[in-house]
Amino acid sequence: MSERPRILTGDTPTGRLHLGHWVGSVKRRVQLQQTHDCYFIIANYHAFTTRPENSGEIRSDCLEIARDHLAMGIDPDLSTIFLQSEIPAIHELCFLFAMLLPFNRVMRNPTLKDEIKVKDLGETYSFGFPLYAVGQCSDILTFRPVGVPVGADQVPHLEMTREVARRFNQMYCNVDVHAEDDDHVKLGGVFPVPRADVGAVGRLMGIDGKNKMSKSLGNAIFISDSAKEVEKKVMKIFTGRQSPTEPGDVNNALFQFVEAFIQDAARVAELKDRYSRGDNLGDGHVKKEVAEAINTLLEPMRKRRAQFEGRDDLVMDILRTGCTKANATAEATLEAARKAANLHFFPRSVGYRSK
Ligand code: ATP
Ligand code: MG
Repeated sequence: MSERPRILTGDTPTGRLHLGHWVGSVKRRVQLQQTHDCYFIIANYHAFTTRPENSGEIRSDCLEIARDHLAMGIDPDLSTIFLQSEIPAIHELCFLFAMLLPFNRVMRNPTLKDEIKVKDLGETYSFGFPLYAVGQCSDILTFRPVGVPVGADQVPHLEMTREVARRFNQMYCNVDVHAEDDDHVKLGGVFPVPRADVGAVGRLMGIDGKNKMSKSLGNAIFISDSAKEVEKKVMKIFTGRQSPTEPGDVNNALFQFVEAFIQDAARVAELKDRYSRGDNLGDGHVKKEVAEAINTLLEPMRKRRAQFEGRDDLVMDILRTGCTKANATAEATLEAARKAANLHFFPRSVGYRSK
């Protein structure tokens, strides 16, 4: 298992997982677990950066996200699902990494700026909010992965993570500033310089037809939605088109759903052709087909999810096993990083008591 190349990715428990997660990242995760050593983080401290007053909800969202993972086909025998707050090494490395990034570099991160805007954080966000961007570098590098399967919005974070890995290796491991990214570990660096692996649909729009589908924006179709809820939500996808004979824009949100979820390529081509010509093809008709396709995808996921509904004990067991394995990997990284940064004083281990 450990011979396999490693990947890490994850989600913030700010709600349940949605179709954007599936197309942007989780579909790829399900494939990669056959060939890679996979770590999936539930980034619960990061949820505190925007809603620290809702700690109870954050806790229950952790379990919901784990259920969503299992529903979508993440196999806990193949992959490690774990909680960020249970891995002390992540937070220790975060402190070191925060010194390697200029403050203004963090604040210029376009994903951070975008979040401040769309989540309406204005001038009121906490000191801790931008820290999550550094924390994310640490979530990733603590596991020393070669790749990170993510949606397109995460690419700027990955770029920062790559900078941190290079700087650490140059500052503390004597890796030459001109070294190729792929050579850093060979040249003695503690951290590989990981690549972003963006899914087939890097940015699925929400049903508002305006913003990225997002747990926090009320525009998401959730993996756990019932067939009826899916139909209702798909019917709401906003296109602004007035009549079935009006030539439609096949780059709109509705057609992004057509391309992402209708499996039959010939049917997709036909729908696009008729829609763009205004050949008496109403939005309602297209939406019905989209809803059917989404429900076909979600049906087996609903069945798998049902096995874990009301079974927090099963989910907690899976998380405990995942956290134990994640800590072993994370402590090995921390030890290497501490040695490199002259912070190695006493060997230690992290473990759980039975009670
Ligand atoms: P939040 O609104 O709290 O930021 P989110 O819906 O953006 O939540 P995250 O937990 O931030 O979800 O993202 C988890 C992963 O899913 C990331 O890799 C992200 O890029 C990907 N992802 C999230 N939304 C989409 C989307 N609409 N399309 C494609 N990928 C997405
Ligand atoms: Mg997000």
